[in-house]
Amino acid sequence: MKSESGSSKKNRLLKRIELFDAVGVKTIEDLLYYLPHSYSSRDSLQSIAAFYAKERFKSYESSQSASQSFQAQAVLQGKIAKKKETIVGKNKSMLVFTIADGSGYTVDLIFWNRLEYYKKVYSEGQTILIIGKPTFDKRFHQIQFTHPEIEKVDSDQELYAKNALLPNYSLSMVMRQIGMTMRTVRAIIEETVSYSIEAEKETIPEYIQELWELLPQKNVWQKIHTPSSFADVELGFRSIKFEEIFYFELMIALRKRLITKQSFGRVMNPKSPTARIVVNSLPFELTSSQKKVLNEIVADLGTGHPMNRLLQGDVGSGKTIVALLCVLCVLDNGCQSIFMAPTEILAEQQYHYFEKYCSQFGVTLALLTGSSKTKKRKEIQDIFSSGTPAILIGTHALFEVEYTFPNVGLIVIDEQHRFGVEQRATLRQKCLVVENNKQIVPHMLVMSATPIPRTLSLTVFGDLDVSILQNPPRNRKPIVTKIVYESNLQFSYEFIRAEIAKGRQAYIVFPLVEKSEKIRAKSVEEYFELLQETEFADLRCGLLHGQMKWNEKEATMKAFATNEYDILVCTTVIEVGIDVPNASVMLINNAERFGLSQLHQLRGRVGRGSEQSYCFLATKDISYATNMTEMEFSAKKSLEIRLEAMVDTTDGFKISEIDLELRGPGDILGTRQSGSPHFRITDLVKDVQYIETVRNFAFTLLENDPHLRKPEHEIIRKELQLRFGKDTFIDVA
Ligand code: ADP
Ligand code: MG
Repeated sequence: MKSESGSSKKNRLLKRIELFDAVGVKTIEDLLYYLPHSYSSRDSLQSIAAFYAKERFKSYESSQSASQSFQAQAVLQGKIAKKKETIVGKNKSMLVFTIADGSGYTVDLIFWNRLEYYKKVYSEGQTILIIGKPTFDKRFHQIQFTHPEIEKVDSDQELYAKNALLPNYSLSMVMRQIGMTMRTVRAIIEETVSYSIEAEKETIPEYIQELWELLPQKNVWQKIHTPSSFADVELGFRSIKFEEIFYFELMIALRKRLITKQSFGRVMNPKSPTARIVVNSLPFELTSSQKKVLNEIVADLGTGHPMNRLLQGDVGSGKTIVALLCVLCVLDNGCQSIFMAPTEILAEQQYHYFEKYCSQFGVTLALLTGSSKTKKRKEIQDIFSSGTPAILIGTHALFEVEYTFPNVGLIVIDEQHRFGVEQRATLRQKCLVVENNKQIVPHMLVMSATPIPRTLSLTVFGDLDVSILQNPPRNRKPIVTKIVYESNLQFSYEFIRAEIAKGRQAYIVFPLVEKSEKIRAKSVEEYFELLQETEFADLRCGLLHGQMKWNEKEATMKAFATNEYDILVCTTVIEVGIDVPNASVMLINNAERFGLSQLHQLRGRVGRGSEQSYCFLATKDISYATNMTEMEFSAKKSLEIRLEAMVDTTDGFKISEIDLELRGPGDILGTRQSGSPHFRITDLVKDVQYIETVRNFAFTLLENDPHLRKPEHEIIRKELQLRFGKDTFIDVA
């Protein structure tokens, strides 16, 4: 008999894949990535009694973890002890299977739909395997499964005949309604796997497979979907992860080489008399960390390669002065610098900061924002095109100008998470000049106050060198943080009042600008008036939010900075950069609505002077709420646990690690940050160590064979071109 041709096999498979449409599976590859949520084996089956004990523990645990749904599938096996149909309303009945396994406990399976089917197929005495999400009915002390996946087990031998381990997949309601069972899912996936064995091509050279103990790519899916042991599963996942990380890191290494080897940077003399004078005039001494970072940057400026450096430092760690000193060094070398700020308020604040230290030298200092007048814009254009040494501070408005900047030696990007990756590139492009057939691009210093966990900086910012401002200036005291319940807000009001009496100032933050029908949270507009008329009637309150006109915002901010207001009632517009050292207390309302990293940024607005500072995180009191469902209660509880992390530590790096674990990388990187790796299986948190070792391997490999010319690297070279296009992989002669 002739074997089925490849294409008809594929078509048949694609037809069956349509059944998975409801869960977003569209291609053969998608289906291979439709991973088992668990595996069951005859040995690992638990008795129902043991399950009760564990379930109680788990429900306690899961109230503390934000993402539990994925894990919550359970696998049990038992006999249908009782089959009972109950009428529960007009034309509505419910079918209950009571399952026993001889351990003295039972669970109930509850069905609302397709009762005829279940009644016909399953009978009392039948042994079944149950996979589903258990719920615990408190009233009856009974574990229930509503519409679990069930499967007849005629004999153990049959079920585990082929493999000792059975993969369990999630089935959506829609999939069940069209009659799919765990059995059919397994069968379709198994068929897909055997198809992929023929189709999958090898992407990892054999010697690397051996070195790292990996499977050939074609066997990877087999081990994941039809394993014979947990060791198989582990091996399968490890092999996929390796491939994901390896190619991603190779790409990063290439990108890095492209920047440093393809183009040139202006060679700068690191000795800067102007910077020296400023350092000597500072009212404080630079921290050892600041000095170290400055040395790293200045060393970069002298290499002839363009610097590409990320300066990470927690809020208030003193990044601005570092940037200013670099800017002055570049100025002494006869070049211009651009300093980018994300908002007009910040741009203006930086402008004044720079002005304070630069005016003594008669430096050309200019500010370009969206609201700059035509005359000012013309002036700035002239400065740029003349190339006269100068410092230009700008907002996003700088991206929009049409001229180029031929004499820019350094670009500083402050609060980088507010800018996109492409925006950085655009700006650099505007500054590109060609001299003697060489492309010269400016040095780039990217600054970030969101401490980025190491894994993320290795991946997302993998092509940047990283400097870290470790210890904050010595005069800082950690901010004392406290959770307050809304029923007890009076306490924090009195505290604020006491601080103001000492001459300090306060922020009161709200999550919303206007009152909202949909979102149950406080708005700054309602509460500004209320607070001003009642609680703080005798104090001076200012209002600041993102929907105000920029000049109003500016005026309010300035008034607060000069202590014309005691309290600034505001939204998160104050989140980045604003520096008012006299503010010593902050009250954040509906704190549960914010991500931890965001709370940390907000909190960083206080504690900038030498005074002890305080932060109150206000949230609904849950212990008194009576009409809350258990789910609501546990969700609330886990929010509170998150807030407790804020109380426990003021270390931004720790906080962002926790945030990353709880909410994934999106929150930390911000929505603007594109170019984040789309690892499908690799976990940025759990796989840190593996990422690091594979990264080192990829970088070393490329160092030893920069053009991938060795015959054993032929596969890699081809694969890179396939994945990232021919341009990504340019031969460096
Ligand atoms: P950030 O890193 O958040 O941008 P800033 O650069 O705004 O922090 O610095 C916060 C405050 O700390 C500023 O008022 C700055 O002048 C001050 N500062 C910077 N370096 C030091 C230092 N070494 N000692 C004391 N204060 C410092
Ligand atoms: Mg700053």
